[in-house]
Amino acid sequence: MSGDNFLNGKSYEPLRRLLSDSKISELQAKIRINKNIEDINWDEKTIKLSELEQSSWQPKLLIAIDGDYSKSIIQNGFPGAEIGYITVSTVVILLDKVRELEKEQFIDPKKFRETEEPTSIDSLFVGCNVVLEGEDSAKSSMRKILFNEFQKFRVFNNTETLLDTYEYLLQERATNGRASECPHDNCKEDYEFNVGEYHCKSCNGKLYSTDALRLHELLNSSGTSGEMYGQIKETFKKLQLIHLLRSFEQEPKYFSLLRDIVFFVEGTLAVFSTASWLAKPIRTELERLNSRVNEEFGSNLIVLGIERSGSFVNHFSTIDTMKNGSEHNFPNQSAFLLTNEYIKKHIVFNDSPT
Ligand SMILES: [Zn+2]
Repeated sequence: MSGDNFLNGKSYEPLRRLLSDSKISELQAKIRINKNIEDINWDEKTIKLSELEQSSWQPKLLIAIDGDYSKSIIQNGFPGAEIGYITVSTVVILLDKVRELEKEQFIDPKKFRETEEPTSIDSLFVGCNVVLEGEDSAKSSMRKILFNEFQKFRVFNNTETLLDTYEYLLQERATNGRASECPHDNCKEDYEFNVGEYHCKSCNGKLYSTDALRLHELLNSSGTSGEMYGQIKETFKKLQLIHLLRSFEQEPKYFSLLRDIVFFVEGTLAVFSTASWLAKPIRTELERLNSRVNEEFGSNLIVLGIERSGSFVNHFSTIDTMKNGSEHNFPNQSAFLLTNEYIKKHIVFNDSPT
């Protein structure tokens, strides 16, 4: 509020700035600085492209998974009523056709579009003050929508649904984690894991297997739920990857394609926030699928996460900048595999040994 900056009609903003300057310097004196990063000789540490064994293998298909969300205020007679629109698109790019087209001097845009086949999960979610008919709150509406969206989506007609994929991962989860609470407001019981729709033994409220993702906990009942839409999108993206892989495995005529596909996921492959327990079952499932592909075809799955922004990208630009400010400190055409130890030391600062 602008009134806060005035005292007896005079602005005390300059005084506040002075105070905060001295407080900032005081705090800065106590902050740990990352000193050892500049000493790394990247020429010694990196793997050069020329040192790698060359492969003649070329993928025929590229499957890219990307997501986005937007939100808007709706008029339903309640203040701040909001809905979120989440899209996770999967684009299949037929690389054989792209290579064919690249040989031509001018690429016909229409033909180029034919090299791509997009499918998408488009879903609407409710946020603050939006309640579906038959539901008692925005939270219960959001939980119902999430379960229904998982149930509706499948990539092929004769293979499992996204819900089946999710429930498979749910069964594989580690059981030693902290139990969350029943999502019903006045119930203090632990949430009971199960598949499908069922009822809480204590309050008899309806539960869904998808409640285990705890995404509803991010719903802000008195403001915008951007964080929740963002995390729903991230969860969809990772589940979609596993869903596609498992669907290819279940459909005999597509299974052999797995040796010719590269999967790209926009963003990190890690899972954060309330659904972070998914990370472990996802990794185990990727390992299982990879060993099946390996047994059958002698090749490995290629799944890449591409980060375009965030801490890792910022860290790269820091190490790529020389002390004199010029770029390309990090040698071209080379790679550096990040260890957990490196990440904790330089990117997501954490002094604990585990
Ligand atoms: Zn309950």
